[in-house]
Amino acid sequence: MSSPLTVLNDEEQALSELVAKFAKAEIEPLRMTMDEEQQMDPDLLPKLFSLGLMGIEIPAEYGGSGSNFFNSIIVIEELSKVDAAVGVLVDVQNTVVNSCIIRYGTAEQKAKYLPWLATEKVGSYALSEADSGSDAFALKCRAMPVADGFVLNGAKLWITNAQQAEVFIVFATVDPKAGHKGITAFLIDRDSSGFSIGKKENKLGIRASSTCELCLDDVKLGHDQVLGTVGKGYKIAIETLNEGRIGIAAQMLGLAEGAMAAALAYSKERQQFGRPIFNFQAVQFLLAEMASRIEAARLLTYNAARLKDQGLPFIKEAAMAKYFTSQVAEWVASESLELFGGYGFSKDYPAEKFYRDAKIGKIYEGTSFMQLQTIAKLL
Ligand SMILES: Cc1cc2nc3c(=O)[nH]c(=O)nc-3n(C[C@H](O)[C@H](O)[C@H](O)COP(=O)(O)OP(=O)(O)OC[C@H]3O[C@@H](n4cnc5c(N)ncnc54)[C@H](O)[C@@H]3O)c2cc1C
Repeated sequence: MSSPLTVLNDEEQALSELVAKFAKAEIEPLRMTMDEEQQMDPDLLPKLFSLGLMGIEIPAEYGGSGSNFFNSIIVIEELSKVDAAVGVLVDVQNTVVNSCIIRYGTAEQKAKYLPWLATEKVGSYALSEADSGSDAFALKCRAMPVADGFVLNGAKLWITNAQQAEVFIVFATVDPKAGHKGITAFLIDRDSSGFSIGKKENKLGIRASSTCELCLDDVKLGHDQVLGTVGKGYKIAIETLNEGRIGIAAQMLGLAEGAMAAALAYSKERQQFGRPIFNFQAVQFLLAEMASRIEAARLLTYNAARLKDQGLPFIKEAAMAKYFTSQVAEWVASESLELFGGYGFSKDYPAEKFYRDAKIGKIYEGTSFMQLQTIAKLL
């Protein structure tokens, strides 16, 4: 008989408890300052690496944790219960950058990049541009073929982790006339000549997560910097984002759980009319509704992740998980804030941060309409 979806096995349970303890002790005290200063605390990164949270699926031979996708989901969820900005840093590293190199990297690329990504270097994934977001493959970034490789020119926008990253997966076209068939993925080191980090965005939420422009000005790359093969970037991007969406669902799931836990605790402390507000049935019903929607979101997210680990079709389920969980997160964060009353509107409590952070779930790695489009195609 197969186990219920949301029951964790011993290894998963131990990992979830380890990350929960770490997030409470090491992230929670920094959370509001990092948000206000729009900076990830630099001491946090080495700790994430030393716990093995930046190379969860990277095989042990490359210095990674050699674990599976589901465990990445648990880690992202636990971190995001405390701070979704840290959640997305770890999410992009594991479910997008590392998985892309594990799947498409040559033996040489894996030997060079995976040990770095597992132990010390952050990665970024750069597909979006100023004029191509949902229509990502209308990208204009150009990789001009030359005798010994390619010369890249253009700019990328909204790139998560770019401030810290040292390894970038960048999508460009080798032939604009070839449409999707020209799109190619490249591995770029931060110190490459002609490559620079541009403007950093000042955001509504996940403010400690860096989101920057990338500038490519005659960046010369050898053939060995192509990830996969020339013209396969479209397939690589689609496949990576299909998985990545489950990571965003996990981020939003954790955020919803964190927001609700804060509201539940507050409702038992806050006295009005001579009793804790939790004693009012309206408040209990609201919390019960939150718990029910969160449970549904958890089932969708865990189901998509377990399908992926078992090699079963998961694309529709991943889109459903991201679509639904980001709705739940936004609603739970909003209602939780109201349960804090006026205090929820102040920065003395985390409710307003959960509320601001929730909004991004419906936007990145495909907007909610794009998820619905994917689901509809697979009906
Ligand atoms: C904080 C943050 C971090 C990000 N990180 C990264 C990253 O690391 N790497 C990266 O490559 N990108 C990243 N992005 C970019 C993100 O993936 C895009 O913003 C997203 O895909 C939406 O694209 P857009 O902003 O161009 O919006 P648009 O595509 O212009 O969409 C605007 C609106 O039009 C709607 N729309 C568009 N097309 C259709 C359609 N066919 N049918 C119905 N409605 C439609 C959309 O749903 C949306 O509501 C990030 C963005 C943000 C804000």
